[in-house]
This record gives sequence, C-alpha cells and structure tokens, in this order.
Amino acid sequence: MDRRKSQSLIERAARSIPGGVNSPVRAFKGVGGNPVFFTSGDGVYLQDVDGNRYIDYVASWGPMILGHGHHGVVEAVKHQADLALGFGAPTEQEIELAELVVDMVPSIEKVRMVNSGTEATMSAIRLARGFTGRDLIVKFNGCYHGHSDALLVKAGSGVLTLGIPSSAGVPEAVAAQTLSLPFNDLDSIRHAFATYPEQIAAVILEPVAGNMGCIPPVPGFLEGLRTLTRADGSVLIFDEVMTGFRVARGGAQARYNVIPDLTTLGKIIGGGLPVGAFGGRAEIMDHIAPVGNVYQAGTLSGNPLAVVAGLTMLQALDDGFYDELEARTNYLVEGLQALAVKHGLSITINHVCGMFSLFFDAAKVVTEFDHVANANIDTFNRFFHAMLDQGVYLAPSAFEVGFLGAQHTTEVLDATLSAADRALSNL
Ligand SMILES: *Cc1c(COP(=O)(O)O)cnc(C)c1O
Repeated sequence: MDRRKSQSLIERAARSIPGGVNSPVRAFKGVGGNPVFFTSGDGVYLQDVDGNRYIDYVASWGPMILGHGHHGVVEAVKHQADLALGFGAPTEQEIELAELVVDMVPSIEKVRMVNSGTEATMSAIRLARGFTGRDLIVKFNGCYHGHSDALLVKAGSGVLTLGIPSSAGVPEAVAAQTLSLPFNDLDSIRHAFATYPEQIAAVILEPVAGNMGCIPPVPGFLEGLRTLTRADGSVLIFDEVMTGFRVARGGAQARYNVIPDLTTLGKIIGGGLPVGAFGGRAEIMDHIAPVGNVYQAGTLSGNPLAVVAGLTMLQALDDGFYDELEARTNYLVEGLQALAVKHGLSITINHVCGMFSLFFDAAKVVTEFDHVANANIDTFNRFFHAMLDQGVYLAPSAFEVGFLGAQHTTEVLDATLSAADRALSNL
C-alpha cells in the first residue's frame, strides 16, 4: 500500500510539531513506521491522504461509536455553528445534556462539563480531596487517567507505549501522594487501607481497564472496592472516560451494578468534539465553586458545539444498541479466536461490549498489567502492520483496545476477519 504522502507529511510535521503529532501514541513509536494522515471518514471507513481506504477500529479513540459523519450529529453541529460558536455563558442545551447524563449514568445526580478526560479526572481528584480533607490517592497499575501530575504515576496508554514508567516533570512530592496498586487485586487495596486508615481521599480506576489493552474487572473486584471505600470514608471514582456510554448505556457501573461516588466521562460524551465531564452524588458535587470551596472552571466548558454533538449522540444510544454492539463484538472475537487456532498461534483475546484486544503469547487469562507487559509486543506490531497494509486501521500500540460501533456490520467484520486470516498466516 502506497503511503508516500503520509510519509512526507510526518517529516514536514516533525519540523514544527514535537514528534510531528499532538498526542504521543499517534506517532507510531510503539509499532514502528510512520503514522497515517487522514482526510475524511464515512461510517466505518477512513480515507488517507494517499487515497487508501481503511476499516476503522480506533474511532477517534472511542467517540465515533455511531461511525464517521453521522447525519444527526453533523447537522446538529452545523445548526449550532450558524447560531453561535460560544458565549461563555449558560445555554439551555447544557441543561438538556446534564439531565440526559443524570438519567443515563446511575451514580450521577449532578454533573459538570469540562473540555477533556484529563480535566475531568484532575477535577474529580481535587473535589475528592476537598470533600474528604485527605491527600492520598490510590490508582491501579496500567490504568490511564489523563496526564495530570497526580495521576501520571506508573500510568498506561502513551506512557507505556513509550516505555517510560512515569513522566519527567512530575514532582516527586506530588507522585508520593499517589499509590499505584495491581489491578484486580483486592488484597493490596485492603493492605493500603490498613496502612493509611482515613488518609486516602479517593480510589480511582477504569472499571474496565482499556489503556493497557482491555482488562475486565474480575468478579468481586468492583464490589470489594465499593465496600472498602465506603467503610473508610474514601471517595470511589470510576473513570468512565472510555467505558461511559460504551460498555452499556449507563457505562460499566450499570453493566456491573456497582455505583461509585464520582464518575468521570469523556470521549463519547462529546460526540467527537473535545469534551469531558465529571459528576456524582449531589452532596459531593456541591463542594465545587460557585456553591462550595473547591475551585474548578473553564473558559470553553460546556461549549455549544460540543454540547449539541454530545447530546445528539447520547440521544441515539438506547439499550437495543448495546445488545447489538455486544453481539458484533462477540462475532469478531469468536472469528479471531478461530483464526488463532487455525494458524496454531497463542492469542488471548479480552473483550467487553464494543472493546477488544489481542495479547500474543500471553497468559491464558490476562487480568493485570504484568500479564500485558509479558505479552509478545513484536508479534503484535507485525500483526498491526499486516492489518494496516490490508486496509484495517487498529490502534497503533499493543497497549490500546480496538473499538466497534454501529457501522461494524457483519459484512465489515467478515472483511476484517479475512484480512486477519492473511495477516496471521504471514506472522
Ligand atoms: C482517554 C482517557 C482519559 C484522558 O482523556 P483526554 O480527553 O485524552 O484527556 C482519561 N481516562 C481514561 C480512562 C481514558 O481512556
């Protein structure tokens, strides 16, 4: 596949943009080679600058669950653009979105809009600290919660891809306020509460981890966290920036029926435009300014374009949508599993409604970051490039998940499986 134009663009980009990209995973450092520059998307298909077409499993890292160019979302944005791009003052659509989010997400009684997932988690952490009067934060190895200082401690996603355990520029004193524990391991969190009783402000996690590949919670893990945090008076935060409106209409908390105190949202809630949100129990949320004394603000927060895009997208997501999405995900995963057997390869595939990932030569059951770190990344990278050359765009990192949406029809999935058959035969 000829990608000469993409190649020349990344060389040009690197002269004026660090690494040529505005977010590190996009640079293909994890998988090698050059990133693809895209021009347009239509449903499940992407078009690159060289005129190649790809089936998209990145979906703008999640938001495009209805496919690219969804008529309703695009029309809503165009209509709003004609009215005004923004006021920095309240609008009626913000109320509509907030009411819909309160209706959809079980834990959320009140919600505030921000501009990214990073802002949402950063603000939720400050709120939890302000509410409890405590400083310590617990997170889990391999979970990613955006790039704020307190949460960039053994984080996943791009950080893992680049092979950096955490980041330069994060003060040790800040990192020392964050404990990072093994995912799916209740004993270590029990130990943390015993060691620091009534000192932990919040426990934050991805209820289905998606930034170290897809790792669902083992039975009892979420329930155990709920019990332990409640007993200690610590705030339980589900970071549902990825899983919100993806693994169920009400997110992972609805799917697993465990209700956190606070929830952070992003990705799908913006309908493809830059957005984030955090919400939860009114008693906690009312500690934010202007009602309470925890400061949080944003010039473009609740921007009308993002709000109407998100509102239109959320309105299109009913329970039936998720039954279908789950069935499609199962179909793809079963097909991939059959191909692994056919080609005599050891591939562990984790998946939850609309999310999947492949681990080559890994443990039979992948439940935590150490299992992911021991998988064969070289084989994944060869698979990634073989798929790319056949027109299937997977996330350019062994530590990311694939996303499915409304447009991944049986026909598209069969085409993907044919591509995978050829890719796996040449590994
Ligand atoms: C993507 C992601 C974030 C960060 O969101 P940004 O919008 O990139 O800042 C935080 N948490 C989780 C779970 C994510 O998947």
